[in-house]
Amino acid sequence: MNEWQQRVEDNVRRVRERIARAAERSGRRPADVTLVAVTKYVDSRIARQLLDAGCHDLAESRPQQLWEKAEQLADQPVRWHLVGHLQRNKIRRTLPLIWLLHSGDNARLLDELDKEAARRETPVPLLLEVNISGEAAKHGFEPDDVERVLEQLDRYQWLSVRGLMTMAHLTSDLNVARADFAALRQLRDRLVDRCPPGHSLDELSMGMSGDFEEAIAEGATMVRVGSALFEGVLG
Ligand SMILES: *Cc1c(COP(=O)(O)O)cnc(C)c1O
Repeated sequence: MNEWQQRVEDNVRRVRERIARAAERSGRRPADVTLVAVTKYVDSRIARQLLDAGCHDLAESRPQQLWEKAEQLADQPVRWHLVGHLQRNKIRRTLPLIWLLHSGDNARLLDELDKEAARRETPVPLLLEVNISGEAAKHGFEPDDVERVLEQLDRYQWLSVRGLMTMAHLTSDLNVARADFAALRQLRDRLVDRCPPGHSLDELSMGMSGDFEEAIAEGATMVRVGSALFEGVLG
């Protein structure tokens, strides 16, 4: 085993332990929180070590990087997640590769996803990204618009909404991040009865390296962790 492999393995173990403890502290089961490993900082050789360490849910934030890594890891049982913005002209190449799209972030994208899914006759599981922080640089539906999106889901034959995703305010203040996560959970709790058949709001994708414990305390079912898995590996 080389040195990087050992480090990645140790990091995965540590992050999993922190996830388990955070879940237990809020009376949840560790198995109810999926670790989604964000590989955007590393090449596919290092990403491969995540698989050796038992991590099969991998994510990229840019479609092209996902295409590349998916090809380089085609021999591995990866469930690919796209967690960043998907441009409409990249839908066709991306859909066959992914297990879950976390970034359903605007109505035109949903229209185009449904069309391509119809062409492929294959449903698209996705999360609706919500701009909880209201920061202009962020993608996602405004919190007040999510109800209308749910009401209009019957226009789509091939989309299957599974939950909501958000990014907290860009801040090191964990209280601010936690309030953002609480706001996403409360939005979900408010809208869950409005969710039409064939869709659900079970999944909450929230929390990254700096704040995943706060997200788990507020109900995250998926945490998207990148840098914490590569400590000692990246420069
Ligand atoms: C990069 C990224 C992450 C992981 O960030 P870290 O702070 O490195 O854990 C999670 N979600 C999205 C959307 C990202 O782009």
